[in-house]
Amino acid sequence: MICYNIIKIRYHFKLRRVVKLSSHNTSNLVRNFLASILITTLASHSLLLAAGGTRPVLVTTIFPLTELARGVGGQRAEVRQVIPPSAEIHHFQLTPSDLKLLAGADLIIAVGGGLEPWLVRLEKSLRKDKSARTLRFIDYLRSEDYGALRRDDPHVWLDFEADRILVDRLVEELCTLDPEGAAYYRERGRALDAELSALDARFRQELGRCIGKEIIIAGHQAFAYLATRYGLVPVSLSGPNPEAQPGARRLQEIIRLVREKNIGAVFYESSEPPAYASTIAQETGAKLFSLSAGVNLTRDQLRGKKSFLELMADNLQILKQALGCE
Ligand SMILES: [Zn+2]
Repeated sequence: MICYNIIKIRYHFKLRRVVKLSSHNTSNLVRNFLASILITTLASHSLLLAAGGTRPVLVTTIFPLTELARGVGGQRAEVRQVIPPSAEIHHFQLTPSDLKLLAGADLIIAVGGGLEPWLVRLEKSLRKDKSARTLRFIDYLRSEDYGALRRDDPHVWLDFEADRILVDRLVEELCTLDPEGAAYYRERGRALDAELSALDARFRQELGRCIGKEIIIAGHQAFAYLATRYGLVPVSLSGPNPEAQPGARRLQEIIRLVREKNIGAVFYESSEPPAYASTIAQETGAKLFSLSAGVNLTRDQLRGKKSFLELMADNLQILKQALGCE
């Protein structure tokens, strides 16, 4: 926007000179008209600069949080993300420029639940420089609603009801950081809440009539929130931590389960190679399907500039096809 205005200013300077050169008897009217455009453009440019300088800076850790923060913050807030969208979040290492980014934040938005261990170490030193606060998504979920899942599993952004809780929280935080924008943030918050609510209703309705209930994930437990929310049964090769290596016994258990229940689909996370999923498929005749966890995006997902909600809508289509919910 600012670059565009600079180009506009240059264009008006040029135009003014051209008019002067081409016509010595340019009327005062034309000259005044061009001058007024120039003044308006300069004024809007400096206003933009001022606005840019005072925008609240939100620094998020992962893509779904960025999308929700941008959804609420719109043009009034600057939202930056620490972990690149293509990076594996569980093994992320901070660089010096990430530190700079975090130090300049008005609010850091994290998932919590052990997903960002580097943040805990960093917070103490950040507080010395600036009073940046950290909001942890998981802290806003009531344990009576989420039970053991909340304690053990950080993949909470895959629960759209939970995302609505975060959106509410983000509206309040932005209204505090930038009170003049309160009406703007509340309006955007309502719109995003309605989108999440509609997506939740679609998942509930369309997954309510599936033949299969088990989601066999041949990887770490990334989809337990999603499955639990919609009455499906998550079965994963390993727990919520992707570093845990699945044992041969667990692999055999899952193969037996797939055979016994005649399960037709085995899922893997789209960002990972389907190594174990292929083994299960070969052993049982189940078909392979990939799901997106909304993080660690593939090259195609990045190229297609998919939004978080679009990735989730794609998941719904895949689940319906795989579990026979048509
Ligand atoms: Zn994960």
